Amino acid sequence: MFDTLSDRLSGVFEKLRGRGALTEKDVSEALREVRVALLEADVALPVARDFVGKVKERAIGQEVLRSVTPGQQVVKIVHDVLVDTLGGGDNAHELDLTKAPPSAILMVGLQGSGKTTTSAKLAKRLKEKDRKRVLMASLDTRRPAAMEQLKVLGEQADVPTLPIVPGQSAVQIAGRAMEAARLGGHDIVILDTAGRLSIDEELMAEVKQIHTKTSPVETLLVLDSLTGQDAVQTAERFKARVPVSGVVLTRLDGDGRGGAALSMRSVTGAPIKFAGVGEKLDALDVFDPERMAGRILGMGDIVSLVEKASQDFDEAKAKQTAQKLAKGEFDLDDLREQLAQMRKMGGMGTILGLMPGMGKIKDAESAAGGFDDGEIKRQEAIISSMTKKERRKPDLMNASRKRRVAKGAGVQVQDVNKLLKAHRGMADMMKKMGKGGKRGMAGQMAK
Ligand code: GDP
Repeated sequence: MFDTLSDRLSGVFEKLRGRGALTEKDVSEALREVRVALLEADVALPVARDFVGKVKERAIGQEVLRSVTPGQQVVKIVHDVLVDTLGGGDNAHELDLTKAPPSAILMVGLQGSGKTTTSAKLAKRLKEKDRKRVLMASLDTRRPAAMEQLKVLGEQADVPTLPIVPGQSAVQIAGRAMEAARLGGHDIVILDTAGRLSIDEELMAEVKQIHTKTSPVETLLVLDSLTGQDAVQTAERFKARVPVSGVVLTRLDGDGRGGAALSMRSVTGAPIKFAGVGEKLDALDVFDPERMAGRILGMGDIVSLVEKASQDFDEAKAKQTAQKLAKGEFDLDDLREQLAQMRKMGGMGTILGLMPGMGKIKDAESAAGGFDDGEIKRQEAIISSMTKKERRKPDLMNASRKRRVAKGAGVQVQDVNKLLKAHRGMADMMKKMGKGGKRGMAGQMAK
């Protein structure tokens, strides 16, 4: 998949490989080529422009990691921007199946986009993976062949289809399908609407009527990724008239360019929810921006290398602090850093994890007063109300200083006392554990 775009990008990054340092000119040149590669892959111009802008912005603000080359780091940034562009962090890729049954899923799209096949793939998936009872109905009243096709696919997927009653309108069939589902105890009704060769008013009006009639939980627009920019334009036009909740991109298995996938989210704002990757009924993937970005870039090894390096980077900093702690130099700035980490990770910070003798972690936690989230924030506020000097030397805290700090943090003096006590307890323990770590068992036993 995406051979061409992937190849082009590899070519661009090959030039950066192994350089000790990157000049701004190197980066600019590489990005110019990234832009050309994107445009050749049929990515919409504003999307390509925006993409390059984002990469540049991030590249400038980023700390240089020692263990990877700058070229590798640029690859990682491009990867991250790819993930964003494809809708990473959307959290919108799964279907909303929380409504009381039966829920309708409306499938819309142009003829030949793969709508009927996708309906059957989705039905099979919902039945097998989500254990849902699914019913399918074709609303393509003008093309009996399309209705017949859904029936055949339904048999293959082992999912029932609504019996065809000649002479009914699409809206009538939709109503009948919902009723049948109610009576038959089905959870989900997949409605395969009529396709047209191009968007016309009649089609749109019909889709709208069906939408009103069935209040679907999802309206999925099926688009052929091979049509590139046309797919994006079709999406824009559908979206302007029907509340599309998500996109299914079909034929990604044959799409060497990936332009539609890359432009879709930015141009239409609609999340890509599924990807069709073959003709078989199980060839439907939940769309995963991370994985797709990996395929486009084809450089998973470099991306994970840089990820690892940036982890090591944090670790190096954490180790430094741990060494400081072991010497008994655990001041209130260190405590504040730990509190911030605890808040992020919901547990004791990584630095504690690097300390020798971590069997005592539970003690450390209780010494810290068993903080909850609000408590942690309060403690951080108290520390922030102290002067730099006070944070370094907590012993300076006399009664008047405590009153000042309490007032600044909006707490009682006893809260300040509690924090100082907790800090003292932790600092003492760190010191002990640090010594234990250095001198080992002998040191412990000599006491
Ligand atoms: P509809 O007119 O939109 O209902 O389109 P169909 O569902 O009839 O699909 C048209 C053709 O595309 C069929 O031959 C399908 O097998 C094929 N097709 C659908 N989705 C995919 C896909 O994801 N990959 C590939 N390779 N073929 C697909």
